Amino acid sequence: MSDSSSLIRPHIRAMHGYVPGEQPVDPDLIKLNTNENPYPPSPRVADVLSSFDPARLRLYPDPMGRKLRQALADRHGATADRVFVGNGSDEILALCTRAFAGEGGAIGWFEPSYSLYPVLADIADIRHVPVALDDDFQWRDPGRPDAGLFFITQPNAPTGMLHDTSKVESFCRGFDGVVLIDEAYGDFACESCMDLALTLDNVLVSRSFSKSYSLAGIRLGYVVGHPELIAAFDKIKDSYNISMLTQALGLAAVEDAAWMEANVKRIRATRRRFSEALMDRGFHVYPSETNFVWIRPPEGLSAADLFQKLREQHILTRHFPGPRT
Ligand code: PMP
Repeated sequence: MSDSSSLIRPHIRAMHGYVPGEQPVDPDLIKLNTNENPYPPSPRVADVLSSFDPARLRLYPDPMGRKLRQALADRHGATADRVFVGNGSDEILALCTRAFAGEGGAIGWFEPSYSLYPVLADIADIRHVPVALDDDFQWRDPGRPDAGLFFITQPNAPTGMLHDTSKVESFCRGFDGVVLIDEAYGDFACESCMDLALTLDNVLVSRSFSKSYSLAGIRLGYVVGHPELIAAFDKIKDSYNISMLTQALGLAAVEDAAWMEANVKRIRATRRRFSEALMDRGFHVYPSETNFVWIRPPEGLSAADLFQKLREQHILTRHFPGPRT
């Protein structure tokens, strides 16, 4: 009998896949572990869902998601040829790896940041160029990394903190490869790098519908950048990467962006109250520009114990064990 594992390409056999945050079945848990939105999406999303004619599902969706791209372009003062829509922003990150960091190449990122980036490098079997953030988890100048692609999470995850946008800009201007600025949490922040995607030829800015738009379940993300980079995504994507329902629901959500913005305002107010309450109780709270708060428990309480105690009280959080975190 053949050993099926020998049929797998050696680098895939050797790598570890990305482990998503737990999606528990217990509906009574207060679920804080994957940074979803506590508020429902726009009522227009519900209207589209309830009036959707299932007979339409016989047909394939628009392969280019044109209406959605146009609505997103309008929102960012761009033309539609500067926008690509993906099956979650995760798909966009994966396509970036394929398009901009090929065989013998490398990808860079800050550490700690989104733990999917090293997995994408492993899938492509290319070199990692991690750049450690400084002791306070703030920006450290990466110089000119030897990589075709560099991911910057802005604001960062899991730290929740925003990098100084002028430092991001000067890095992008000096870097020879493509910079993907991952703004999955960008709607919650006081600043964005979207302008860089509209002005610099090597910068892409990606956003997610999973957080601010309360639509993690439909899997939708988008990226803005130079038309030639966007055309590269179109060449290599799955033909119909965004389902018909997702396109229709995403469009309804963008057309009612005011609903999303009102929820963002509420979440920012909660973030402030929550952070202050934790600081009053002796926690070290990093200044968050996202919809989550990264904390270090007070002396005498380990993060692992805190995680466990909260879990016993039906509150699910995320714990980041590791040498730095
Ligand atoms: N980037 C970062 C920094 C994230 O935390 C996440 C969500 N885990 C993503 C991208 C992916 O988001 P999406 O749901 O749009 O694929």
